[in-house]
Amino acid sequence: MSIWRNIQKQNFTKINTILDYLELDDANKLKILKNSPFIFNLPLRLAKKIKKNCLEDPIFKQFIPLTCENIPNPDFVNDPVSDQSFCRSARLLQKYKHRALLLCSSACAMHCRYCFRQNFPYERKSSTFDEEIDLIKNDTSIKEVILSGGDPLSLSNLAIKNLMTKLDKIEHLKRIRFHTRFVIGIPERIDELLLETFQNVTKQIYFVIHVNHPIELDKDVISYLKKIQKLQIPILSQTVLLKGVNDNLNILKDLCEILVDNGIIPYYLHDLDPVKGASHFKVAKERGIELVQKLREEISGYGVFQYVSEIPFKKSKMPII
Ligand code: SF4
Repeated sequence: MSIWRNIQKQNFTKINTILDYLELDDANKLKILKNSPFIFNLPLRLAKKIKKNCLEDPIFKQFIPLTCENIPNPDFVNDPVSDQSFCRSARLLQKYKHRALLLCSSACAMHCRYCFRQNFPYERKSSTFDEEIDLIKNDTSIKEVILSGGDPLSLSNLAIKNLMTKLDKIEHLKRIRFHTRFVIGIPERIDELLLETFQNVTKQIYFVIHVNHPIELDKDVISYLKKIQKLQIPILSQTVLLKGVNDNLNILKDLCEILVDNGIIPYYLHDLDPVKGASHFKVAKERGIELVQKLREEISGYGVFQYVSEIPFKKSKMPII
């Protein structure tokens, strides 16, 4: 079995176990949600970064379910970006011209409490992408495929190799983009077989990581990302603006600086998609605008992400500022 799969087996998936590991006191334990339908899942590497008995910790906030997820808010819904309206098949979404998104897997290295796709009815029966590959083959307007999920790096190396080999043969397809958060929790996922597959693909690959706080980018994570950069694959980043996690100038500045210092382009800062249970993460757009304006005074233009929101049925992501 791959090293990364063995590491993944160490993930915390039982809420009581993590509460003990984090030494939560009885008062804090009362604030934890124990029966969320979006099951708890946290890699050991991230758990080790959490301060003991601290509900304000930025890693804690992103991954540990809180009872406030159950507070109803009619503006926060199951499918906030209307993903299901854009399905061309069970696993191919197309929202924008020339790009299509492949839902490679329902699995992730970790479960982020604000995930907009946490209620998506993933196709779990079939393990091939034949229907999706045919759709892409037969639509010459598609120039770029985004491998997403879940997390595409949840697939085995063999499945990724097979998929990329098929995509690589489609002449009108020019780019293959990975959207992943795996490396933040289990950087060992960037193993030799995966790198070999990337190296053998002739299309331009883009690698987009989801990272929200500078603490997520430790030396090991960076060193694995460097292996991808060595293959001439550009790395970009996406961040979700989250209350109590990164709605702070110094945190966003540190994050952008670590990224650009390591040759990673900060791509998008996303306004929170209003998914049910995540209203406690909402940052007012006015605050987001203020933060981005201040960031622009601190960092070169290429080092500041574009602040955007996804509005269902618009023809692209919508810039907020
Ligand atoms: S890694 Fe991405 S897809 Fe998976 S739970 Fe987090 S936000 Fe959702």
